[in-house]
Amino acid sequence: TPTIGVLALQGDVREHLVALAAADALARPVRRPEELAEVDALVMPGGESTTISKLAVLFGLMDPLRERVRAGMPVYGTCAGMIMLADKILDGRDDQETVGGIDMTVRRNAFGRQNESFETAIPFEGMAEPVTGVFIRAPWVESVGAGVEVLAEVPAADGPDARIVAVRQGNLLATSFHPELTGDHRVHEYFVRMVEAAAR
Ligand code: GLN
Repeated sequence: TPTIGVLALQGDVREHLVALAAADALARPVRRPEELAEVDALVMPGGESTTISKLAVLFGLMDPLRERVRAGMPVYGTCAGMIMLADKILDGRDDQETVGGIDMTVRRNAFGRQNESFETAIPFEGMAEPVTGVFIRAPWVESVGAGVEVLAEVPAADGPDARIVAVRQGNLLATSFHPELTGDHRVHEYFVRMVEAAAR
């Protein structure tokens, strides 16, 4: 059974701990570098990415996070956590740092102008039934590099292009939406299987 940490600086930490436990992982909060060193994998929750980023620097976690990602640790980021995994962000704060690791450009609060918050059923690569996407001032993925697999998209409100809302690159997974708020644990189970495969 893998031990999976949830970055517990700000955001919906508790919901991820519950979802991971339901997906048969040992879940624990991570606030300090020593705690990061003890986990096999990490979830970065939704919340406010500027705050999470600032606190990660303050708590001495930003460099250890980058090192673990570079060393291949599996990480799943939801919403603000997706922003944290992006190599490049648009509409971020000027001084906003990310951990990076996924070769993608993510636009913060991208869905915010039309809808502060909405829910929609989304077909998700490899899953028989769609997942319920809960979007809360959510980012979308503006563009991805060649090594990034697109797992889910939603139709654009204002044109023919679909918006990318779930991606995977190697051991890194990110969604614009919040499966931890739905009681449907399939995306967390998908991540736990990624973690188990990475350990073999
Ligand atoms: N808008 C937030 C940000 O930019 C993300 C919102 C969320 O995580 N639900 O960090």
